[in-house]
Amino acid sequence: MRFESVFDAAEITSQFEKAGINPIFIPSIWKYLIQHPECEWDEIPSLPSAAYTLLRSRFKPVTSTLHSLFHSSDEVTTKLLIKLQNGAFVEAVIMRYDTRLGKYAGKPRPGGPRSTLCISSQVGCKMGCKFCATGSMGFKNNLSSGEIVEQLVHASRLSNIRNVVFMGMGEPLNNYNAVVEAVRVMTRSPFQLSPKRITISTVGIIHAIKKLHIDLPGLNLAVSLHAPVQDIRCQIMPAARAFPLDKLMDTLKVYQKDSQQKILIEYIMLDGINDEEQHAHQLGKLLETFQVQVVNLIPFNPIGNLSQFKTSNEQKVLRFQKILRGTYNIRTTIRKEMGQDISGACGQLVVNLPDKNSVDNKGLLTDIEDLRI
Ligand code: SAH
Ligand code: SF4
Repeated sequence: MRFESVFDAAEITSQFEKAGINPIFIPSIWKYLIQHPECEWDEIPSLPSAAYTLLRSRFKPVTSTLHSLFHSSDEVTTKLLIKLQNGAFVEAVIMRYDTRLGKYAGKPRPGGPRSTLCISSQVGCKMGCKFCATGSMGFKNNLSSGEIVEQLVHASRLSNIRNVVFMGMGEPLNNYNAVVEAVRVMTRSPFQLSPKRITISTVGIIHAIKKLHIDLPGLNLAVSLHAPVQDIRCQIMPAARAFPLDKLMDTLKVYQKDSQQKILIEYIMLDGINDEEQHAHQLGKLLETFQVQVVNLIPFNPIGNLSQFKTSNEQKVLRFQKILRGTYNIRTTIRKEMGQDISGACGQLVVNLPDKNSVDNKGLLTDIEDLRI
C-alpha cells in the first residue's frame, strides 16, 4: 500500500478537514516527527482520537528512508542518499559553513553554526543538458511536495539547516506545484526558513518563471545560463530551443522588476565551448542592463558518461572572471571544489550507484555560500 506523506500539506489538510479534525494540529505533528522520525503515530501526544485513526490508515510518519550517508573528511559536506517509497533514490547534500576554516583567519565563521541543504525535486530530468549526469538518465518521476520536504526532515536531524537550494536532481520548475507547496511548508512552522534563504535553480522554464514571484514572493532565483548566445546554449542544453535566450532574458528582466530581486547566474565552464575571452565579453554585454547578484563560474565536473566535455583550466576560468569583473563590473565567483573525498556535484551521485567509490568529487561550497543574503 502506498502511504501519503504528512509533509504533503495539501493532502493532510484536506484529509483532516474531511474527517472534521482541526488542521491546527498539523504543525505540531511535523515538529514531533522532525525530532522523532522513527516514532509510531500513537507516540505523538495530545491529538484528537480521530487524528490517530486517520494517520494510521493513510499516512506514514516519514515515507522516505535515509539509505546512506557520505561524510567528507573535512566534515564540511555530508551527502544523504534517500530512498523514496517507490524504490528510487534521490540525493541531498548538507554543507556546513561554520566548520570551514581559512576564510576567516583560520577561525570558524562568525554567527554560529549554519548549514545549507541542496535538495532534489525529481528523479532524473527531462531537460537533457549534455554536461549533466542527471540529464543523461532521462526523466523517471516527480517528487511529491512531501518527499521534497522530507529531505529537509532527514537533514535537520544531522544539522541546523538555514538555507535550502534546489540544485540536486531534477528541474524544479518542471515540478512546479510540488516545489511551490514544499517551499511554502518550509517557510511555515516548525521549519520557518526565510524565503530569502531558499533558492530555486532553473534551466530557464519561461512560463514558470513568469508566475514564480507571485506564488513565492521573496524567493531567490538562480538561472543556469551556461552560454552567452543562443547557438552555444542549444548545443549544450536542448531545452534552450524551447526557451530561447532572448525570451529568457526578457522574462528575467520582468521577474526582476516585479520581484525586486537580483538573480544569480550559473555558468558552467566547458573547455573550448563557452570559456573563451569572446564569450566573457558576450556574457558581460548580455548582463549589462541586468541586476545580477553574482555570476557563479562552475568548473565542469566530468562524471558518468560525459566524456565529450573537458573542464576549463584554471587560467581560463580566472581570465573569464577578470573580464566580467574588470570590464563589466559584475560580481563573479568561482565554485570551489570541496568535500573531495565523497562525491560529485549535488545531484550527480545517484546516477553512479551502486558503485559509490567511483563517484568524482566536487562540492558546491563557495557558490552556495554566495546565495545567502
Ligand atoms: N535543473 C536545475 C537545478 C539542478 S542542476 C538547473 O539546471 O539549474 C544544479 C546545477 O548543477 C546547475 O547549474 C547545473 O547546470 C549544474 N551541473 C549539472 N551538471 C554538472 C556537472 N557535470 N558539473 C558541474 N555542474 C553541473
Ligand atoms: Fe536537468 Fe538541471 Fe541537469 Fe539540465 S542541469 S539536465 S535542467 S538537472
